[in-house]
Amino acid sequence: MSKEYEVIIGLEVHVELNTKTKIFCGCSTEFGGAPNTHVCPVCSGMPGSLPVLNKEVVNKAISVGLATNCEITRNSKFDRKNYFYPDNPQNYQISQLYYPICRDGHVTIMSKGAAKDIRIHEIHMEEDAGKLIHDPVTDDTYVDFNRSGVPLIEIVSEPDMRSADEVIAYLEKLRETIQYLDASDCKLNEGSMRADVNISIREMGSDKFGTRTESKNLNSFKAIRRCIENEVKRQKDIIESGEKVVQETRRWDDLKGVSYPMRSKEDAQDYRYFPDPDLVPIVVSDEWIEEIKSKLPEFKDERKIRYKEMYGLPDYDIDQITGSKKMGEIFEGAVKEGADPKKVSNWLMVETMRLMKETGTDADKLKFSATNLAKLVKLVDSKEINNATAKEVFEKAIFSEDMDPVKYVADNNLSMKTDSGELEEVVKKAIDANPKAIEDILGGKGKAVGAIVGYVMKEMKGKCDPAEVNKIIAAEIAKLK
Ligand code: ADP
Ligand code: ZN
Ligand code: MG
Repeated sequence: MSKEYEVIIGLEVHVELNTKTKIFCGCSTEFGGAPNTHVCPVCSGMPGSLPVLNKEVVNKAISVGLATNCEITRNSKFDRKNYFYPDNPQNYQISQLYYPICRDGHVTIMSKGAAKDIRIHEIHMEEDAGKLIHDPVTDDTYVDFNRSGVPLIEIVSEPDMRSADEVIAYLEKLRETIQYLDASDCKLNEGSMRADVNISIREMGSDKFGTRTESKNLNSFKAIRRCIENEVKRQKDIIESGEKVVQETRRWDDLKGVSYPMRSKEDAQDYRYFPDPDLVPIVVSDEWIEEIKSKLPEFKDERKIRYKEMYGLPDYDIDQITGSKKMGEIFEGAVKEGADPKKVSNWLMVETMRLMKETGTDADKLKFSATNLAKLVKLVDSKEINNATAKEVFEKAIFSEDMDPVKYVADNNLSMKTDSGELEEVVKKAIDANPKAIEDILGGKGKAVGAIVGYVMKEMKGKCDPAEVNKIIAAEIAKLK
């Protein structure tokens, strides 16, 4: 019988901070742009150029540290990590080895219905490298330094995770926290959040860690889960066949569902770290920390509790609308303007999320205002427009343009005719035009009323309240009996 094993996982997570400019120069961090247009002597590694630290990077790194219960290092420094690679123009990366900005934190995740703390060993700041672009036709390689010098933080966990589920829960927690802080958009598929997953297994009950491997190139939660399952099985097979797991870095190929060794510990580089002589130490005062603390937002967990108390919405709704800070803001704004909370929540969960998916819009890029959503809810409540029209107005006027729905409804003549005199005329016309249906109705076939309603809706071009139409038809038919 095969033995029982315990899975041990620790993560190194890189997050690109969304500052306007790079970490050591004034170049733009904007994604994309023609190659080598966001570069200067500093971030292209020209000899003699000098880095100057962007304070906003430190602010954001400290805010992530505070939000993850870390100690903030009062005297922090940068170090040079020396290695040669063509995307690294200085031949060293400026990083933090000896005095990382944050240490000894934790985040709380839910695992199998219970709260569990995942400890954070440290968070350090560093610069990103450029990008190499290979041309498969000519076999040439080009280099683009636009990303060189974009600020990163690396969040290093303790080996506290015991399953793929816990890894995903931990990453979701980090992402949610950092997005609420507005420190990064944390997109795995675009590389603004990248996770290296360290995995080892040991016999159940053992208190000694086994040899670990590190998996790279994981750009979705699904890939991470598949990679972990695959690596655990690979290590089990090795151990069961009496061999030893080799400490190495492996590359996961998600298309093929296999991993390949990239480099083993034997060829691990000696980075010859030393303190960077071009940068002064960072001294973090009490006042500085207090200032950042005072600006920390309400995080998702706190917001969920408050929404439950204030609005009494179902847990599912609350989880959905607090999924992003922005959506919560729209929700609260619309409710403040007097719209019904559950109706606002429905607009956000159903139509908004559908259109976000269709148009590939992220929640933080939603541009419609709470005011206009509130107005739309009220237009439906007051029977100015019906649900079908409201959906059209939401899609055409609010979601894409943030137009005033009241004005849009007026300009496009979408209001349901409140003039019941006109509706009565149309109903009478419908009765005259459908003698067979009337005969059926009078003969007891109630369903035949559908033909009359359909005729009226068509005549009115959908701009009427179906309940009102039914009422008038019933009244007219009663007269015929
Ligand atoms: P190194 O100094 O070689 O980079 P670290 O001790 O800094 O190694 O650990 C790197 C990452 O690997 C951390 O996230 C840590 O939690 C994780 N880790 C360390 N040992 C193990 C292990 N035996 N199994 C799984 N993960 C581990
Ligand atoms: Zn630059
Ligand atoms: Mg390490």
